[in-house]
This record gives sequence, structure tokens and C-alpha cells, in this order.
Amino acid sequence: MSESTVHDVVILGGGSGGYACALRSAQLGLDVVLIEKGKLGGTCLHQGCIPTKALLHAAEVADATRESSQFGVKATFEGIDMPAVNTYKDAVVTRLYKGLTGLLKSRGITYVEGEGRLVRPDAVAVGDTVFTGRNVVLATGSVPKSLPGLEIDGARVISSDHALTLDYVPRSAVVLGGGVIGVEFASVWRSFGVDVTIVEALPHLLPAEDEALSKQLERQFRKRGIAYELGARFSSVENTATGVLVQLESGKAIEADLLLVAVGRGPVSAGLGYEEAGVAVDRGFVKVDEYCRTSVANIYAVGDLIPTLQLAHVGFGEGILVAEQIAGKSPRPIDYDGVPRVTYSEPEVASVGITEAAARERYGDAVTTVIYDLAGNGKSQILKTAGMVKLVAVKGGPVVGVHLVGSRVGELLAEGQLIYNWEAYADDVASLIHAHPTQSEAMGEAHLALAGKPLHAHS
Ligand SMILES: Cc1cc2nc3c(=O)[nH]c(=O)nc-3n(C[C@H](O)[C@H](O)[C@H](O)COP(=O)(O)OP(=O)(O)OC[C@H]3O[C@@H](n4cnc5c(N)ncnc54)[C@H](O)[C@@H]3O)c2cc1C
Repeated sequence: MSESTVHDVVILGGGSGGYACALRSAQLGLDVVLIEKGKLGGTCLHQGCIPTKALLHAAEVADATRESSQFGVKATFEGIDMPAVNTYKDAVVTRLYKGLTGLLKSRGITYVEGEGRLVRPDAVAVGDTVFTGRNVVLATGSVPKSLPGLEIDGARVISSDHALTLDYVPRSAVVLGGGVIGVEFASVWRSFGVDVTIVEALPHLLPAEDEALSKQLERQFRKRGIAYELGARFSSVENTATGVLVQLESGKAIEADLLLVAVGRGPVSAGLGYEEAGVAVDRGFVKVDEYCRTSVANIYAVGDLIPTLQLAHVGFGEGILVAEQIAGKSPRPIDYDGVPRVTYSEPEVASVGITEAAARERYGDAVTTVIYDLAGNGKSQILKTAGMVKLVAVKGGPVVGVHLVGSRVGELLAEGQLIYNWEAYADDVASLIHAHPTQSEAMGEAHLALAGKPLHAHS
């Protein structure tokens, strides 16, 4: 075993959480080691956010081509060339990967390629080399989960990792799980011409969102020809001559070329020496306090490895929070309700703050809501999209939830995030003039309505 230097920070895992922590730590003058067994950038860059959004953009182009005559444009949709779609997607990933690698180098971070293991509360071993740190940050992320007895074979029963590397467009697919990942793949595949059925055990798609958004998404998915079975439990899957036969507990059977298992992601913590070093773990997730401190002094954990929202920007935020503490600053804990959440399907679903149901639990009758229909928004009509802005507010108090559905509404969430996190009142926002004709006007109009002075809406 070699290496005698003691570093300020040793980080295990180079995904969103780990590399953000490394970048901020180095910026604050700390001496950093970042250990990664796969590719710098982790799930988000290589198997998550970026490649899926490239596929969703290709899907948008396919829809625009197919529907071009609605806008008086003559174009013929001839089909999807999946290898070419993958070339485009991979080029985006490669460019970002190169940029990130260069950024890390430029900050003077020691990057170690290899599989690490926590061997002492202050040390991570990679092969025969031990990296000792005054602080250790665990950021080993997550991998796709399955259900008991459901084996992912990578051919006909696949995870999102496999779905991203398919070199053909299946004729039909069953998507098990109506959460963000399942909904996004269902949306892409439908645009690519696939017959898709989503199977979701809970009563709605995107069950964590405000019910109004889920219902609107379901209506629009139905119109797009995306089938779904809600409150439906998976029973079994068997291979057929051409694909799979998926059985539900209700007795219904669905045949398809593929089954995509999108039932969530589980933390990567087993066999890495965490518990042996005294780090408390619950169902595989590392337990932390609001400062991402584990049960062992000077060991922190961030990202999908801890039981907070599994989002890349949450990983960034937690990584930065940890770096600033280590550097002796006094950062504020993250308000997880104030984190923006976007599902990039067609239509998009976006929210920040709390749902109406959560607000009623928290504030009782002191809750008021407004729904502004995108039918009244000029730009949305130009785009031919349907949807809504739903606001949840405390009567005589701040806006506590901004919920959006419609094409491109993810981009409106930046304003929603400021409104929620700065605890704005309806009047504060209603008095701001929004540019016409933009979709952001819908945000202004919703606040005008909440303030009791609707403009392009019936009072
Ligand atoms: C299909 C899909 C779409 C997504 N879309 C979005 C989106 O649009 N927006 C969004 O915000 N989030 C999205 N996410 C979620 C996002 O990717 C994750 O929240 C984020 O990547 C978590 O970052 P992390 O650093 O915690 O973990 P990861 O990104 O998983 O990184 C962990 C890293 O640790 C490394 N590692 C693990 N064990 C070891 C070891 N022993 N030694 C060395 N290295 C190790 C791994 O190789 C990996 O690179 C998506 C996820 C998926 C799967």
C-alpha cells in the first residue's frame, strides 16, 4: 500500500454530486482527490439527463416533421434512423465529457481512475494505493432497480441504460413504472412510432406531482396514443417468439417487443466498506443530516446515494454544500421543496414548491389555488400546445407551489423557482410586466388572477 500525503478532501464517485464537490472544493483552495471507476460525469452525463434529453429533442423534431402541414409547411416524415440518432446523442455527450474533463484538470484536481473502497474512516483504497483525507465524501450514486423475481436480461427486458443504446426502434414496448424515467421514454418512443403501454401501480402517472398535472398529462398522452394501465401491478413476464408477454395481477396480458423496467434507482453502497467504517446506512442509502454529514465525523455523502431527490442539480447543490462546509464557510441547508423538478416529455411537466394536497395538510383551509389555462396564452396557441399553470398559495401569504404542464414549460420554471424561494406574494409577481407573446406571460397572468385581477382569463 502506497501514498503518504494527507489530502483535504477525498471524493469517491465522479458523478454530478462528486464532481461538483471537487470543483467547488478546489475553487476554495482545498487539495482534492476525485476517484471514479467509470466515466467522469456519471449517470447524468452518460446514462441519464443528457442522452435522454437528446433523444427527446430528436422526438420533438420527428413530431414537428410529422405535423408540419398543420403549420402550412410541406415535409414528409420518412422514419427514424436510430444509428444516426445515436450518433447525434453520443456527439453531445462526448463534447460535454471533454469539456468537463478539461475543467477538472484546469482546477488542479487529482483525478484517479479506478474502483475505490472506504478502508478507514479517513481513507479510500484504489488497488494498492490508499488516499487519506482529512475529509471523505461518498458520492457513489445509484443504478437501475428491478422488482423481486424480475430479471433484466438487457435484450428483451431492459433498463434505461439499455434503452439508451438500442440501435433499432421497437414496434411496441411496455414501460413498467410511470415515474419520470418511464414517462420520458414512453414519450420518446411514441414520437418514434412505437406502440407504448405504461404500467403504473399507483393511481396516476408522475405520482409525486400535483394531481392536476398528472391528469392533464394522462389526457394528453391518451391523445398521443400512449396507453397506460394505472393502479395496475406487474405479475410476470415471459419471452415469446417475437418479444415478451407481460402479465398484470388483474389478469390482463400485454404483448410487446420489449419491457422497459423503470421502477426506480437504488443506491450504490454495498461492499464499499461504508458500514465497516461506522457509516449508518438505511436500505442501502447513506443516512445524513441536513448538512449531508454522515454518522462518522468528517465523512459526508451526497447525490443519489442519500435519500433526497434523485436529480443531478440536487447532487450539484449537495456537493457545493459539503465543499463550503469543509472550507470553513457557513452554507445554508437545502430547502428540498424549493428544488425545481422537470419531466421532459411531450408535454413537459414542471413544478417547484409543494402540491395542493401537501399545502392543505400543512396550512389547512388557508390555502388558495388558481389554474391558468394555456388556451388563453398566445404563444402556446402558436405552438399548438395545451396545458396550464397552477399556483398554490397561502391566503394573504406567499406562493408555495408552482405547477406547470405544456410544451416547453420546463423553461418557465426558473421564474417559478424565484417566486417560491423568495417567498413572493401574488401581488409582487402580478405587478411585473411579462413579455408578449411569450409562454412566460402565462406565469404573469396566473399571478394576476391569484391577485384578484385576471386579464386574459374569466374572473
Ligand atoms: C434515464 C435517466 C434520466 C435522468 N434525467 C435527469 C434529468 O433530466 N435531470 C436531472 O436532474 N436528473 C436526471 N437523472 C438523475 C441524475 O442522473 C442523477 O440524479 C445524478 O446522476 C446523480 O448523481 P450522483 O453523483 O449522485 O450519482 P452518479 O451520477 O450515479 O455518479 C456516481 C459515480 O460514482 C461512480 N462509482 C460508484 N462506485 C464507485 C467506486 N466504488 N469507486 C469509484 N467510483 C465509483 C460511478 O461510476 C458513477 O460515475 C436521470 C437519471 C436517469 C437514469
